[in-house]
Amino acid sequence: MNALRGRAVTDPHGLIADVRQQLDQAGARLSPEQERALLWGMGTAAINANDAAAFAESTLRLDGLASASKDPAAAAAAGFLRARHDIANGIGDGLGEALRAADKVLGNADSQLVAWARFQLCDAYTLDEKADRALPLCRQVETNYLALGDEWGIADAENDEGIALATLNRISEATEVYERSRQHFTHVGASRMAVSVGDNLSQMYLKQGRAREALQLSQTSLKQETSDGRISDAIGSSTDIARAQAALGQHRKAYALMRATVAKARAAGMNGQLSDLLDVESTLAEQAGDLHQALADEREIVTLESATNTPALRVIEAELEQRYAAREKELRIDDLERTNRDQNLELKAAQSEAARRDEEQQRQKLANLVVTVLAVGLVLVACLLFLLLKSQRRHAAELSAQALCDPLTGIENRRAFQQRAMALLTCQRDMRDPLHVLMLIDFDHFKRINDSVGHQQGDRVLVIITDYLRLAIGETCHIARIGGEEFIVLCPQLGAEDGMRLAETLRAGVAALVLPAELEVAQITVSIGVALFDGERCHDLTSWMRAADTALYSAKSYGRDRVVASALVS
Ligand code: GH3
Ligand code: MG
Ligand code: MG
Repeated sequence: MNALRGRAVTDPHGLIADVRQQLDQAGARLSPEQERALLWGMGTAAINANDAAAFAESTLRLDGLASASKDPAAAAAAGFLRARHDIANGIGDGLGEALRAADKVLGNADSQLVAWARFQLCDAYTLDEKADRALPLCRQVETNYLALGDEWGIADAENDEGIALATLNRISEATEVYERSRQHFTHVGASRMAVSVGDNLSQMYLKQGRAREALQLSQTSLKQETSDGRISDAIGSSTDIARAQAALGQHRKAYALMRATVAKARAAGMNGQLSDLLDVESTLAEQAGDLHQALADEREIVTLESATNTPALRVIEAELEQRYAAREKELRIDDLERTNRDQNLELKAAQSEAARRDEEQQRQKLANLVVTVLAVGLVLVACLLFLLLKSQRRHAAELSAQALCDPLTGIENRRAFQQRAMALLTCQRDMRDPLHVLMLIDFDHFKRINDSVGHQQGDRVLVIITDYLRLAIGETCHIARIGGEEFIVLCPQLGAEDGMRLAETLRAGVAALVLPAELEVAQITVSIGVALFDGERCHDLTSWMRAADTALYSAKSYGRDRVVASALVS
């Protein structure tokens, strides 16, 4: 009876087809036990694959086998199949059916048959959510299978025990039993069954807040169940995935998956599970904000669970509507508040952005202003420096000019003369060239003029005589004022003869000058000492000037208004 149980779960369609073929081919050659085992496998596969035709065929043939061969096991098998089908689809008296089926074989001597029947009963109780009844029975079955060495049976019973414990909300115990069941299935190589138990385990993980582990298990289960064509289990796994997603905060994703799952359950005609699925959908719809769907789901659950539209139902409906209306209002208020908050935030962001830009503009303006001021300042400083430099240069030029110029007469002063004479004496002279001539001119009795006409008039006289002398000496000679009324004339390479002639011309010219009448000075005379630069007696500027001075002294001594040459000249 247990031979085909693995395949009924993992490959229900294939198993149904195989059984049909074997029954067609072998027919009468099969023993009643063999036929019963095949039909049982086909029946469980039909329930798993939701194949109504195969289900009907297997149960009817089992009924036939039971009456033909007086086989209570065949009658029990048909009963258990109907029970399971009715419970799964929420129709008829499934549990009563299972109890009647068990009654047919529980007194049997075949311990394997008894264990099988007990397990079917435990399974029926579990399916019908009679956990209190199921739990001791499942544990008993585990002991029976342990004695028979049937690890698959142990795993099956543990799975049902887990379901019962979960129904009783004993989550950690259920988790442990499911984990054991998985290990047993894995140990006997029933990996797909292990996955199926994992599906149940994932629900426990979910309840313990282990959403990621739950999601992983359910996704693995779903893959397996889909490829096996186990629609009912696949729908259960999809539901678990949706719940795990919701627990992980992925509300929209979870809701979308649940809608698709409910649609699949409807298409498969799984009315027994529909209200549970709708319950999950309702919760997820509410979390995702689709209150209309949540209300519709709740209404449908009430309709499914109550055959008629009683006044009590209407009260429940009214309550539901009120609850959802209030909830919807809350959500709308939340929405409005959120929108308001968002707008405030946007406004604040815009204001702060505007303030930031304003500040930046001000800063930019200030920076521009500073740059402009600096640039203008720089230009001004440059101009000032330029003007300062220019005026300093002019001043320096004036100072240097002043340093070499006599302010009263406008001719060179003693310093300028000395520079000029030194420069002249530094130059290499050709011995064949005429000698340089120096004339020292002193006004005669000038003190008297000052005394008679005043110092100011005396100045005017000085200027007039200077103008005359400057013109009279010509281009080649240079005149300088070296004292109060003392002048010096330097004539490079003029020679003794021309020198004496020029000195005499100057003396005579001054004496002959007719001064303006308002000066009241009748005549002015000068005495002149002349000296030649011979390189011996006059070998430098000092000795040369001393010689001229000596000659001048002689001219004064001889009575003034005359020219006297130094010893060399005479
Ligand atoms: P001497 O014939 O001996 O040279 O008689 P002097 O009166 O000219 O005597 P000396 O040369 O020793 O004196 C120069 C006089 O010239 C003294 C001063 O009154 C006058 N003097 C000197 N410098 C100036 C000047 O710049 N302006 C005027 N008006 N008089 C001056
Ligand atoms: Mg003098
Ligand atoms: Mg004099």
